[in-house]
Amino acid sequence: MNALVRRSAALCALGALTTVLVGCSGDARPVPAERPPAASRSAPPTLAPGPQGLTPVFENGPRTHGRTVALTFDADMTAGQGPRAAAGERFDNPALVATLRRLKVPATFFMTGRWADEYPSQAADIGRDPLFEVANHSYSHYAFTGDCYGLPTVPPARMRADMERAFAAFRTAGVERSVPYFRFPGGCYDQRALRALAPGGVTAVQWDVVGGDAFATDPAAVARQVLDGVRPGSVVVLHCTRSAAPATERALRTIVPELRKRGYRFVRVSEQIGSAGARR
Ligand SMILES: [Zn+2]
Repeated sequence: MNALVRRSAALCALGALTTVLVGCSGDARPVPAERPPAASRSAPPTLAPGPQGLTPVFENGPRTHGRTVALTFDADMTAGQGPRAAAGERFDNPALVATLRRLKVPATFFMTGRWADEYPSQAADIGRDPLFEVANHSYSHYAFTGDCYGLPTVPPARMRADMERAFAAFRTAGVERSVPYFRFPGGCYDQRALRALAPGGVTAVQWDVVGGDAFATDPAAVARQVLDGVRPGSVVVLHCTRSAAPATERALRTIVPELRKRGYRFVRVSEQIGSAGARR
């Protein structure tokens, strides 16, 4: 993997924010939808290691295997944000999860361990829903490279431990099964980070469509950006952190029906990795 530092705009560096609450309304009309297969009991597919055994990186599914799209939601919470949560800031977004269920949209959550510590019952609830899968977004939401949106940095010797701590936090919260996929905080990685995580056997998951929902307040703008960007096989990055992404749930109410109208089927990342020529 030659890519050294990959990043994407407008993500993840959660700055000082005031709490913004999102309404939970929405009609309850059932929607005919694709039937997500029950979560497989076999091991989730992963990509073969990259050159020199580095952690492989997945960005999007095949462009020619039909119209699939994976919506992914980062559950961001930085290790130092406990006091803000204690003061009332909401890093969760139950309305978003409810909307995905109502619309029957399979989705992949990239959860920080710190988030699972803060919201264990929600983490377990997402983890037991066969519609969803829980993947790893680090424990601390600190950067795995220097110069990544101002995030504090994880020293290389601690990188794998930070990832494993998140998997442990999931188990403690009651997430019985998680998938071995890792999303770098801020999307920032380099060869050193890929080497540090390689013994963990994960596939790093980036994206090809930036939802632009971080700090966005206009759901129509988020929906437009997603709809303009999606192609067959796309992986879309969005957030389920209400204070930092207050428009996302409302944007979904536009995005989901419109993509279905265009013939897209929503899938979890594991399905895309499986059809990208994974090893099992
Ligand atoms: Zn993040």
